[in-house]
Amino acid sequence: MSRYDLEDEEITALLAGEPRFRLQQLQEALYQRFEEIEEISVLPKALRERLSHLPEFAPALSVANEQRADGGRTVKWLFHLDDGAAIETVLMHYRDHSTVCISSQAGCAMACSFCATGHGGYLRQLSTGEIVEQVIFAARRARADGRRLDHVVFMGMGEPFANFDRVWRSVERIVNDIGLAARHVTLSTVGLIPQIRLLAEHPLQVNLAVSLHAANNELRSELVPINRRYPIERLVTALEEYFAQTHRRISFEWALIAGVNDTPKDVAELAPIANRLHAHVNLIPLNPIRDIAPGAMKGSSPERVAEFANELGALGVNATIRRTRGRSIDAACGQLAVMANRPVPVRVTRHRVE
Ligand code: SAH
Repeated sequence: MSRYDLEDEEITALLAGEPRFRLQQLQEALYQRFEEIEEISVLPKALRERLSHLPEFAPALSVANEQRADGGRTVKWLFHLDDGAAIETVLMHYRDHSTVCISSQAGCAMACSFCATGHGGYLRQLSTGEIVEQVIFAARRARADGRRLDHVVFMGMGEPFANFDRVWRSVERIVNDIGLAARHVTLSTVGLIPQIRLLAEHPLQVNLAVSLHAANNELRSELVPINRRYPIERLVTALEEYFAQTHRRISFEWALIAGVNDTPKDVAELAPIANRLHAHVNLIPLNPIRDIAPGAMKGSSPERVAEFANELGALGVNATIRRTRGRSIDAACGQLAVMANRPVPVRVTRHRVE
């Protein structure tokens, strides 16, 4: 549980005896100024004192480790949750924006063959508040760095669509309460069709990213096993309907693995699908992960990655190459791997007041 799980009625109950405007004061402090209870100076000291001792307001995330890379512009946190589960969150500062990559589950059940999180297995769902608190934590850090957090990607640990309701409630919080633009929020999925349909019914203009990685069923089932349940042709139909209904941008993620999915045949299979859906293709040079035997799967060379993008471009597909932020600290795509049953680094500090 996190204080960011609390709905208005629950906070009102905890504020028993206080004037009604306290609710709004507290909400603004928590969601817009990212304050800890002790720091909320608009509240009387005695009230702060009382609230700070309520278990409902204790932070849900404790920092167990913090690592930096890319000259300090990438920060990865390992957080422990109150039941011992652990997750990772990555904050990335770019020239003109700052993005946080958040986890939606502790672990992941999707078992994609090239993903470290998938190799670690699934532990549990995160609550809405545990998801939101990652954003708040990163927003607070961004502010301390003289930046403003403005983008959120659900591309950390877990499959967001396998935790749809809590994830959606967290998106509402991020947009309505924290105030980020829905267009700056991206949900990434392995391609769970029922939830893609569900997303189309939801009003906010969020971006949808689909981890495609292969455009034929034989290869995709090997890389992304859920493809056996939701094969490509059905996925593409669902995405066509999604696009027709929402006109919201779809992008495909494609981790380039040398000799596996980076050949001209792959370009020829991917291009018609991307064109049909007006989808953008995000090429990710495969990031090394520890659980894969060296040599078993290698990322395509930078030259091949660039050619692949050009070959797609020649067929009318809009393709970009994703920057590999945080590789040196295992913070890049597919490298987040932390399980409660694995030994984790020392020094647990609560993040109450910096
Ligand atoms: N479960 C969701 C959210 C995770 S997003 C999803 O799969 O979409 C993380 C992205 O990084 C996904 O596109 C995933 O397929 C990709 N990825 C996983 N392992 C990778 C690796 N070793 N190198 C590059 N990308 C990887």
